[in-house]
Amino acid sequence: MPDSPSAPLSEFDLIRRFFTRPVHKAALGVGDDCALIEGRPGHQLAISTDMLVSGRHFFPDVPPRSLGHKALAVNLSDLAAMGAEPRAFTLALALPEADPHWLGELAAGMLALADDHGCELIGGDTTRGPLTLSITVFGDVPPRQALRRDAARPGDDIWISGTLGDARLALGDCRGEWLLPEPDFTIIRPRMDTPTPRVALGLALRGIAHAALDISDGLIGDLGHILARSAVGAIVDVDSLPRSEILGAQPLDRQHECVLAGGDDYELCFTAPAGAREAIAAIGRQLGLPVTRAGTITAEPGLRIVDRDGNPCAFAGAGFDHFAAP
Ligand code: ADP
Ligand code: MG
Repeated sequence: MPDSPSAPLSEFDLIRRFFTRPVHKAALGVGDDCALIEGRPGHQLAISTDMLVSGRHFFPDVPPRSLGHKALAVNLSDLAAMGAEPRAFTLALALPEADPHWLGELAAGMLALADDHGCELIGGDTTRGPLTLSITVFGDVPPRQALRRDAARPGDDIWISGTLGDARLALGDCRGEWLLPEPDFTIIRPRMDTPTPRVALGLALRGIAHAALDISDGLIGDLGHILARSAVGAIVDVDSLPRSEILGAQPLDRQHECVLAGGDDYELCFTAPAGAREAIAAIGRQLGLPVTRAGTITAEPGLRIVDRDGNPCAFAGAGFDHFAAP
């Protein structure tokens, strides 16, 4: 009786029960050796994979509904950063055990976000092993409209969506690096556990922004990728970086740590010519998402962080690196 709550779930029961859903856009979904998707005429397929490892990217006891949401959100965020429209995803899952309640919650969080974005689960792989989720997303983008990291040009403005640093601020509380008042923690915790991929913003920026990426490892490190790929430099005003009221009330060095080097915000950092300022502000208003100008792309290489008076900022941290970090 595979569907009785007490019977052990076989691999195939599990896939059928939690991860098999009718598909509408795909030609063939879960159940065969491959899924089949049609290339959208006149578009390129944008493809990205992101893996979440227990104890590395999330606490082992994180609520499974949040985990399901986050695993897909970080992948949708990559599509957003490319200006691609979500279409489908696959899910590779390593599980220490098949707990139906846990799996039901995981699937609920993941599939609710998938539905919000019309992104269909079309296949995957399931195995026993240390808890790991790896998702591959597929999206559509018209040729030459993808927001690539190598497209920043000297003179471009640097823009940031939403606010930075709250995910890092919440993480610091969980790790005991600092303690926030309970109500503040409750407000910012979703920024760490259930980030919002800025998909609509990425789509709206097609043809307007030059370069873009999503901030997953901290602004300094991630902006550094745009600078390296585009062979340019940048000057960033740390005081203009958007932050929540809660983060803005923290000691300044903590604010700097969180907005400059805090990962996991999944906001977009993008560059655009000064002529696009009005259009970008209008997009922000239309989406109800603040967009803030925080710096300039320069021809000279290197990233200079300054305060509002133009003095160099003393912050010494860097972006997150899985192999450099202890
Ligand atoms: P194969 O033996 O060809 O690798 P599997 O037995 O692993 O196929 O998977 C059977 C079907 O279930 C395939 O269509 C596969 O894409 C799908 N599938 C397996 N695991 C998952 C999962 N976690 N989520 C969605 N689909 C899955
Ligand atoms: Mg398989």
